[in-house]
Amino acid sequence: MTEEIRCIGCGTVIQTKDKEGIGYTPNSALEKGLETGDVYCQRCFRLRHYNDIQDVAITDKEFLALLNGIGDADALIVNVVDIFDFNGSLIPGLHRFVGSNPVLLVGNKVDILPKSLKKGKMTQWMKERAFEVGLRPTEVTLTSAKSKSDIEELLELIEEHRDGRDVYVVGVTNVGKSTLINAIINHSAGVKDLITTSQFPGTTLDKIEIPLEDGHFLIDTPGIIHRHQMAHYLGKKDLMLVSPKKEIKPKVYQLNAGQTLFLGGLARFDFIQGNKQGFITYVSNDLMIHRTKLETATEFYEKHAGGLLQPPRKNELGEFPELVRFEFSVKEKTDLVFAGLGWVTIPDAGVVAGWAPKGVDVIQRKSLI
Ligand code: GDP
Repeated sequence: MTEEIRCIGCGTVIQTKDKEGIGYTPNSALEKGLETGDVYCQRCFRLRHYNDIQDVAITDKEFLALLNGIGDADALIVNVVDIFDFNGSLIPGLHRFVGSNPVLLVGNKVDILPKSLKKGKMTQWMKERAFEVGLRPTEVTLTSAKSKSDIEELLELIEEHRDGRDVYVVGVTNVGKSTLINAIINHSAGVKDLITTSQFPGTTLDKIEIPLEDGHFLIDTPGIIHRHQMAHYLGKKDLMLVSPKKEIKPKVYQLNAGQTLFLGGLARFDFIQGNKQGFITYVSNDLMIHRTKLETATEFYEKHAGGLLQPPRKNELGEFPELVRFEFSVKEKTDLVFAGLGWVTIPDAGVVAGWAPKGVDVIQRKSLI
């Protein structure tokens, strides 16, 4: 039998037969890669050189098998979530898969939240939300995969909790798990950007094992795809536009009942009933927000989607799902979350509606800030 060759981008086993399958590499590229010592699958190659993601099918069954394996291991589980899309990054049923293993819950991308946010309040909030879905993390922490000092702190925390065991890093796609793993490798070995990262969901396939000093491993698992994230409905340019890269600047809109906000052409917020109040939007600074009358908002959207209300762009309108309405009666300070896009804080009681592309969740949660 020939030895397995793995892609140094995503860790998947290289194959040269099935063009559509995971790990495909043309023979010529494989030979070249073997000479230089860096073999990439075609998917990672394209992504690195052209910033172009190719879809590769990986089934839910494979993910489930992988998660089941984690329960049998004696390990520390590091669950990475995106604090900007907390609900969209929880793994359904994770608490059942981890067995008796301890969980370290890591909220990534802390750099995009307003600096005024208290870390202690944030981790407490994360702990409460985790408990709600049955997850009992041993510890909750915040990090930014983009900050060197944060990574150092995180590694120390992992070292403290792993207690001589392996470490499994799990997370849904787009939470920044690859970026984090890259930073960890970078920190420990000085090998730069070994693993593929991108804006697009589903970049890491199969698992990557990083040796630790005591003979144990830090194991990076594939990102689990969450279908209700906005990211699955956007083109590349638009995804970059809606994923905040810098600290988000909250914007306040004083609205009377009967007014509507459009978040680009991606989502819509209606204030239906209640006293005049200051709604706060937390979305990428690059996303344009438009205020209009609720009464005529639907016609306004029909007329301006793809134009004034972007993204989506004009040429994408045909494939872009229609906006679906969710109504909420709010009693106290609440966030209305548009999965993967951001949220609107409702300071006071009232009736509101959130609209998102069909398939994307709109949920209410206890206010984060
Ligand atoms: P994965 O699918 O979980 O492996 O996610 P990636 O590592 O590919 O990252 C998804 C996107 O989030 C990329 O655009 C990253 O640049 C971005 N990202 C990752 N970590 C951070 C972070 O700490 N802060 C910010 N602002 N962006 C991040």
